[in-house]
Amino acid sequence: MKEFKDYKPEINKCSKCGLCESVCPLFKINPNDCVASKGKFLMLGGVINGDLKFSQTINKYLDMCLKCGKCKSFCPGGIDICEILAAAKYEYMKNRLSGKIINFLQSRPVFNRIIKTGEVLSGLFRPKKGCADTSSPVVVYFKGCVNKVFPKTDKALARLLKHHPVKIIEPDFECCGLPFMTEGNLERFMQVCKHNTEELRKYKYDYLITDCASCADTIASYPKYMENAGFLLKNGINWGDFIADENMKFKFKKHLKVTFHKPCHLENDEFFEKIMNNCENIEYVKMEDYDACCGFAGSFALKNAGISAGLISQKAENIEKTGADYVITTCPACIIGLKLGLAGKKTKVISLLEFLAMADKII
Ligand code: SF4
Ligand code: SF4
Repeated sequence: MKEFKDYKPEINKCSKCGLCESVCPLFKINPNDCVASKGKFLMLGGVINGDLKFSQTINKYLDMCLKCGKCKSFCPGGIDICEILAAAKYEYMKNRLSGKIINFLQSRPVFNRIIKTGEVLSGLFRPKKGCADTSSPVVVYFKGCVNKVFPKTDKALARLLKHHPVKIIEPDFECCGLPFMTEGNLERFMQVCKHNTEELRKYKYDYLITDCASCADTIASYPKYMENAGFLLKNGINWGDFIADENMKFKFKKHLKVTFHKPCHLENDEFFEKIMNNCENIEYVKMEDYDACCGFAGSFALKNAGISAGLISQKAENIEKTGADYVITTCPACIIGLKLGLAGKKTKVISLLEFLAMADKII
């Protein structure tokens, strides 16, 4: 596991050119250098070079980041701010009482028991597994914590895959680790990284599928932390890609207008328009800034309530302008953020799988 001090070359690589500020969603609504990577690297450079000490103020700015990765893709040096922020957060939290409390709550016995309890209770409402034959594709499904606790996605999948049988394997995965990474709990992150990779090695499969953009993005980061985990990147897709590739068709009796919110962690959204073209009676209207962050980003919303609310209401405004009946997305966390913004409004928030499962006919 790399420690904060190991990132000195990357931190000092930042030229302070400020290009990251032009794409950082937080800087757009709060033009303070410290909210974008440039200012964060100024502070972290001070700490790593011995001119500054970690403080509550620096911690405040470590938490003021959506982990959307937009700055990395725009940075001439390709510096990975999210990875460095996690290492800095670990360094800041490791000897603090608040860090010890968070580590306890996120520890394997406590965290997994909470998820397991939800999983067992919701099992009563889950459909039976569909049938597949030997010619069916084999899918390892990384369900993610939210879908383990809530049965809606399983119900939608059961309907969608009725005429497109796949053999679904659900290994004993733990959380993808994003909440641990965000809190700087790198030891716990490494624990799930190792566990999930070992689970995956037990199976032969055609696809590794998830329908949570954040889980997919986190799993894709494992090879940065573990040697020999590169195989994870080879056939990882999401259900949207699978449905588009299978050329599934959907007939809706009622005409509906929809729009799409692209989660920050969704790398490729080409599947969405392909699927919409296969939906009869569905009108897709692209919203302004459809790929702008919804503002929720897990614990970010709790720690930065004002900024989060600003981003969420901007998103809601863009959604409302489309006049859509539904805003569709592919990330359970974004669904929460969008629901907060659209409370009491006409447009309903729905996951892609649940929306498609509403079709009157699926071919
Ligand atoms: S774009 Fe990259 S190099 Fe330029 S200021 Fe931002 S983090 Fe530093
Ligand atoms: S990851 Fe996103 S929110 Fe964080 S500094 Fe980069 S662009 Fe800004």
